[in-house]
Amino acid sequence: HSPTIYMVTPTHTHPEQKANLVRLSHTLLHVKNIHWIVIEDSVSKTVLVSKFLQNSGVKNTHLAALTPHEIKMKYNDPTWLKPKGVLQRNAALRWIRENLNPNTDNGVVYFADDDNTYSLEIFQEMRNTKKATVWPVGLVGGLRYEKPIVKDGKVTGWFTYWKPNRPFPMDMAGFAVNVNLFFNNPDARFSNEVPRGFLESTILEQLNVKMEDLEPRAENCSKVLVWHTRTEKTKLKNEQLMIKRQGQGSDPNIEV
Ligand code: UDP
Ligand code: MN
Repeated sequence: HSPTIYMVTPTHTHPEQKANLVRLSHTLLHVKNIHWIVIEDSVSKTVLVSKFLQNSGVKNTHLAALTPHEIKMKYNDPTWLKPKGVLQRNAALRWIRENLNPNTDNGVVYFADDDNTYSLEIFQEMRNTKKATVWPVGLVGGLRYEKPIVKDGKVTGWFTYWKPNRPFPMDMAGFAVNVNLFFNNPDARFSNEVPRGFLESTILEQLNVKMEDLEPRAENCSKVLVWHTRTEKTKLKNEQLMIKRQGQGSDPNIEV
């Protein structure tokens, strides 16, 4: 049967979390043979995400791994200050290594953040990945898209403005790797210590992926099938004003 897509999604508690997860799950309901590994940035699994996943209809594994206080983003920090999702993705890698059988479970790992927009085609494109597949990502890096440059079916460079000299100057949403790379490179993991923008490059280097291994997808990287969309922070200023005006704000028992 066709390889399973192991989709690794870190998620954290914030006002837009459930909306992001609902939207993403509705995409995944259209994808065959997908196993969604959702890792909460929290001490333990929350009721909100537990209930959501149980009712989502998507095959899933629910994990939790807290980002330590020193590394954690504050609500009003600029979004680029600290790496995000590092310990969560590592928890998923541990789960994969401990729970999949390298001899019988063939599949693909895709690191898919909870606020991006994924077309159904992108899952078809990554499904058959020998080592590492790559494709353009829309609305990222201060450009309409970033993408690998392809000549004669091979990746020869990158259309990326920001830090173009990184070994793999692309967003996390722009590649997938065969799950066996995680068994062949048992120490490969993400790190909070890498410079900004280097999560993608360092994991691919640790997985021993070389430029010439990259398998271009999405019609030789000419199509945008995934978008680095971001959810706007909702202004909740009237919550406080509501308490002043009529003694109580919104009901915390109503899940949003
Ligand atoms: N994330 C997390 N903990 C945090 C902030 C973010 O686990 O404190 C997750 C988030 O839910 C997302 C991923 O890490 O799946 C990347 O974060 P975000 O989408 O905010 O990054 P950006 O859009 O800035 O690349
Ligand atoms: Mn994001």
